[in-house]
Amino acid sequence: MSRTALIYCEEAIQHNTGGYHPESPLRMKALRLAFEESGLNLPVLQPDPASRDDLLRIHTRAHVDTVEACCLNGGHYPDPDTVMGPGSWDAALLSAGAGITACKAVLDGQYENAFIMMRPPGHHAEPDHAMGFCLFNNIAVTARWLRETGKARRVTILDFDVHHGNGTQDAFYHDETVFYVSLHEYPHFPGTGFPYERGKDNTTLNIQMPPGCSPEQWTRTIEGMAAPQLELFAPDFLLLSSGFDGHRLDPLGNQLLEAADYGAITRLVRHIAGGRIVSFLEGGYHLTALGQCAVSHVSALME
Ligand SMILES: [Zn+2]
Repeated sequence: MSRTALIYCEEAIQHNTGGYHPESPLRMKALRLAFEESGLNLPVLQPDPASRDDLLRIHTRAHVDTVEACCLNGGHYPDPDTVMGPGSWDAALLSAGAGITACKAVLDGQYENAFIMMRPPGHHAEPDHAMGFCLFNNIAVTARWLRETGKARRVTILDFDVHHGNGTQDAFYHDETVFYVSLHEYPHFPGTGFPYERGKDNTTLNIQMPPGCSPEQWTRTIEGMAAPQLELFAPDFLLLSSGFDGHRLDPLGNQLLEAADYGAITRLVRHIAGGRIVSFLEGGYHLTALGQCAVSHVSALME
């Protein structure tokens, strides 16, 4: 029996961003192929879609209505990076609900941890607007569900995507029960995430990584700074914003990580929260590297 589940469904491919967008359905195809070839043989769980109430724990009603209208009625969303079409609505609801499905499977003792292989990604989505390829903030919806349903007293989020998770930081900036730690390249999109932003009761921690950081700089920073802080918080769950755009080949990042380094990063944190970990796919735009990084990350979750 595997201790790790993969959360995935075909609707993730139906979110069509057009021919030239880096956050394309081809990412799902590359990941599926990489997992097939890996021989890891992971059990796949179908996500349940997020309910309106699940979304409204993080997002404003106006935002949910706008995304729905833009997806289903062909409305135009003002951020040109963030494309939506008819298939995007189901994909967005399933991507936003997948974390809750994963947490339930972990809470039931069915699995120890889970990796969510869905799109659209989420960590740039703000409570009141979509941004940076993200429609709803999937990881924030999950963390808030864990808190408001009483499934967790404290939740930690580690975001190692190469970009700052501005939406996640904002969702929990005044919530002392959710500790958000981000390592991100700076200067870089979206230009947020400063070390002096510490949130209520110091429950935000931003670590800026200059362009060109080595794998050792990443692992030393996680081992020396991020992991001890996450552990001290004594969380009931560790949620990961797993972006693989820090890979040295990634077209949207300027870091020097290799696929194996994502396994090393995972091993540095996998004991936290008693191993109750749910990992969310965020970025990663070099198709071959994306597959290799995700397999390396999930292999470490399975150990
Ligand atoms: Zn990213």
